[in-house]
Amino acid sequence: MDLSLDHSVILNNGVKIPILGLGTWTLRGKRAYQAVTWALEIGYKLIDTASFYGNEEDIGKAISDSKIDRDEIFITTKVWNDEQGYDETLKAIDRSLKRLKLNHVDLYLIHWPVMAKRLDTWKAMEKILEMEKAKAVGVSNFTIKHLKELLESSSLIPAVNQVEFSPFLYQKELLEFCNEKGIKLEAYCPLTRGRKFNNPVIKSISEKYNKTPAQIMIRWGLQHGIIEIPKSGNKNHLFENANVFDFSLNSIDMEQLDSLDEGFRLVDDPLFYE
Ligand code: NAP
Repeated sequence: MDLSLDHSVILNNGVKIPILGLGTWTLRGKRAYQAVTWALEIGYKLIDTASFYGNEEDIGKAISDSKIDRDEIFITTKVWNDEQGYDETLKAIDRSLKRLKLNHVDLYLIHWPVMAKRLDTWKAMEKILEMEKAKAVGVSNFTIKHLKELLESSSLIPAVNQVEFSPFLYQKELLEFCNEKGIKLEAYCPLTRGRKFNNPVIKSISEKYNKTPAQIMIRWGLQHGIIEIPKSGNKNHLFENANVFDFSLNSIDMEQLDSLDEGFRLVDDPLFYE
């Protein structure tokens, strides 16, 4: 089995990011500790968390207990909405680092584009980068409008924009905009939380390649050059989701998957954040 979990790409500031990682939303306590421990054993290098998830301590413990070299692991966390603003964000990163028991994270993201706060938060992100508390900084749930506003206010280009993205929410325009600006797109809910596993197109393509619906959806994102962070607390699923490097979808199947877009969202539309 070619799990190849060390496949990576280079962000706009030269930092290397694995293209496939583990999402951890809803995993807490022992379940978070166990999932991250399994993931690290399997070879996952990227772990995605957030101050909001309430699992940074569990993840920090799993990382330190794994005895894996810190440089071998890529940790993302995020500043939550009520922690935003310049001074608050500088405090928030310290709290996250303390919980994670780390000196720095690899990627620090603004979780949502909170109105009236996001530009000050971004100034704090510049400072955090300068203080080397994060190797790279970026945003999450930013639309093209939010990104344009940010780019006009600062010369620091976000390294990443983490957004909801799947064949059923194929945000082509946003992807192209990010590519053009050198912002790496990272997909959350890449599996639609399982809601679309029974879609007939997904099912027939899975049968054709002898892969599961989850593997087809992950592979589709990877072939679009997107970073994928499927969540699982199940050891078999963790293996399955990583086993996506021994096949590729042909262009006809990619197009068929692209055409599944129906604006399907599980999480709030960031357009509501004016
Ligand atoms: P997801 O990854 O699309 O789906 C996770 C669900 O799929 C879980 O219920 C999981 O159950 C199941 N699953 C995983 N692998 C499977 C497999 N091979 N076969 C069958 N079922 C499988 O959804 P998500 O967790 O919402 O998104 C992924 C990550 O993105 C999150 O965990 C979080 O880190 C991040 N995220 C970020 C934001 C943001 O605002 N920035 C928002 C949402 C999510 P099991 O655990 O039982 O496998």
